[in-house]
Amino acid sequence: MRSRLVLAAAVLLGCVATPVAAADVSGPCALPNTGANLSEGPTNWANFVRPVGRVSAVTIFVDFPDTPATEPTATDYANLVPGGPQWFATSSYGRLTLDVTPVHRWFRMPQPSTAYGFQRGLSFATHRTYIADAVRAADAAVDFRGYQLLYVVPNRAAAAISFSPTLLAPAGRGVAADGREFRQVVTFGQDMWRWGFKVLNHESGHTFSLPDLYAYAGGHPFVGGWDLMGLISGPAPDNLAWHKWKLGWLDTAQLGCVNAPGTTQHTLTPLSAPGGVKAVVVRTGTTTALVAEVRTRAGLDAAACDTGVLIYRVDSAVNSGSGPVRVVDAHPATAACGDPLGDATFDLGAGEVSSYAEAGVRFDLLARGYTLRVTRT
Ligand SMILES: [Zn+2]
Repeated sequence: MRSRLVLAAAVLLGCVATPVAAADVSGPCALPNTGANLSEGPTNWANFVRPVGRVSAVTIFVDFPDTPATEPTATDYANLVPGGPQWFATSSYGRLTLDVTPVHRWFRMPQPSTAYGFQRGLSFATHRTYIADAVRAADAAVDFRGYQLLYVVPNRAAAAISFSPTLLAPAGRGVAADGREFRQVVTFGQDMWRWGFKVLNHESGHTFSLPDLYAYAGGHPFVGGWDLMGLISGPAPDNLAWHKWKLGWLDTAQLGCVNAPGTTQHTLTPLSAPGGVKAVVVRTGTTTALVAEVRTRAGLDAAACDTGVLIYRVDSAVNSGSGPVRVVDAHPATAACGDPLGDATFDLGAGEVSSYAEAGVRFDLLARGYTLRVTRT
């Protein structure tokens, strides 16, 4: 289950255009875009789909000479739409409307399902060929103009199309269709039936420039289930405040910023609730920051294992899959919901931990609701 995502990530590593710093996410607490693979610094929107306002996606369904489809497209795909777009509408506080147009018929691919390399370790070139074949098969029936994102869904019998990688192509190396070039394409695989619609949100997150927060070396040691770029099926999968800011779903004014010595106090509103200050960011180095946000059992986090203040380190020089975000565990000796980080949050009350200090920065939780004091020496 995990290895399929790691393979997906390997494709990403090979095909992401070198990011260039942009001024979209600015201010004294922005971290530089270091050129790391899917850096946590500001996104260069020339290379990604900007997820603000209306984003139009088209879904094409493909089957194969060795595994012809017998089922209708609508039945199997029904659980991806509208779940995925609704999830984004909630996570973005209404700032992203993902408009998905499914073209409900099967387009026959020219090669057998086993010919595309999904089982041998997909390369950028073979993944691109798969997408180009799908576009060519659908071209007579689909007008690709006006769509920013392309989703390709295989039929269920095509077991060889096992996982769901995202193609991120440099300019000129994407797939041309009707006079436009698709440089961000999600190709779903059979793992979509296990993950459910949130695989659309995870993979589309890459087309928006978000890195993988699980470990390419295996497991989920960095953020556990606190962001679906870490664990799609995690109990609290809402995007971290840092990611929402990076994507333009939070304004810079919704982040408290500490980049000088002294003591400041911050009242944070839960990540799941629209409005208010969502996080405090404390710069700790050239490419690093500590971030604190409030996670509650509400909205997309309704099944959260624990609640309170989640503190994490961000490093914009760390590559996707190598831990660009690492959650601080308030209870390192215990696990919850089967995850060492399930009880990572800081809180007030019996058995809770309400203070944390690291690298000359101290967080003290003063009141639920949530008031946080930050002391920087
Ligand atoms: Zn991923």
